Amino acid sequence: MAKDSRHSAHPVCRAVAKSHKKVATTVDARLWSMSDDEVAEALVEATRLRARVEALELRLAAEADRRAVGDKVGATDTASWWGHETRQDRPAAKRRMRLAESLDRHAPTAAALAEGAISTDHARVITECVDRLPDDLPDPTILERAEKHLLHEAVDLDPRSLAILAKHVLTVVAPEIGEERDARALEREEQEARANAWLTMAPDGKGSYRGKFSIPTMQGAMLKKMLLAFAAPKHQASKPADKDQHEAVERRPSPERMGDAFCELIERLPAHKLPQLGGLNASIIVLLDFTGLKSDVGRAVLETGEPISASLARRMACEAGLIPAVLGSRSELLDLGRTARLFNGAQRLGLVVTQRVCTAVGCDWPAHLCHTHHDDSWLNGGKTDMKNARLLCPKHHARIHDPRFEPTIHPDNQVTFHMRT
Ligand SMILES: [Zn+2]
Ligand SMILES: [Zn+2]
Repeated sequence: MAKDSRHSAHPVCRAVAKSHKKVATTVDARLWSMSDDEVAEALVEATRLRARVEALELRLAAEADRRAVGDKVGATDTASWWGHETRQDRPAAKRRMRLAESLDRHAPTAAALAEGAISTDHARVITECVDRLPDDLPDPTILERAEKHLLHEAVDLDPRSLAILAKHVLTVVAPEIGEERDARALEREEQEARANAWLTMAPDGKGSYRGKFSIPTMQGAMLKKMLLAFAAPKHQASKPADKDQHEAVERRPSPERMGDAFCELIERLPAHKLPQLGGLNASIIVLLDFTGLKSDVGRAVLETGEPISASLARRMACEAGLIPAVLGSRSELLDLGRTARLFNGAQRLGLVVTQRVCTAVGCDWPAHLCHTHHDDSWLNGGKTDMKNARLLCPKHHARIHDPRFEPTIHPDNQVTFHMRT
């Protein structure tokens, strides 16, 4: 066996190198003269070729593992050796090695990959699904039938759709036992997802928090629905029934829109209904300097010590998520904003009836999604009564508190904004 693996000229590798060279030379020489159809055809062909080369690679990896090639040179295992030798990420090399080992036990899938009929992603879905099936099945042919069924479907489906189908494979190939097994597998999956749910978040030091999470499918779908309700109400409301098919397709809100909706959801959660933290409800307290409040340059500090602008504090004071604590010049507590700051249910109902939509000119956000703004800020002594109240959508509510804009209230109670100079 050749010593230097990098420059070995094993007949198998030589054959691959030769056929690749032939294809590559042809493409290089002809690329600019190829027609669109030829480019498209060659691209599809090259993708199939990739699957075939990967099949070969995985067969060799399985063989190398069987021979413990890695151990012999002192590596932890063959996957680590392979990763190091070919500069792959360690986890990626391990994942490929697992697939190689699994393909070794699933000849039909290995053959389909070797023909270029499926990709390695398809192969991974199929082998993982078949390996996951219970080993106490009454009929030993069920495993074979499951693999065959998935291979058949893989021709028309992308790996993600195939993975969804794979969840119910037993129901299809062995309905007499499948339904019950599938149901139990689903239960197990739900329990695991719930037990393994996690969330991390941390300030990035540049004015944002960043985070990631993993939650079960159902709660994920619930969250998505809530966010969509904030992200696209106008779109849904203004969608006429008789528009053509193309128009009726639900537009997907951008990540920015969804981020906006997430902020809105958090601001709208009724903090007084959440579990208490240390005897207080989960509202965040914001400390405001009384003298700074009157000016736009004033600053406010969250109870966590993080600063926010006075205009944001004023906007938040219109709604429930935050308790403003107004401090005097010697940091004594002058006022701790409580419920009198917020409009009650009857008042809100009255506003919904009289104002119906956002009161910014030209805006049609429905009342139930609007904030209730104090024309004269509560922090400046404004009263919480109907004369001082107006409905504004989140965007226009932010604008009316934005020092860069000058609001004008017209006789019909509608408001317009223009940039301050
Ligand atoms: Zn407001
Ligand atoms: Zn509006």
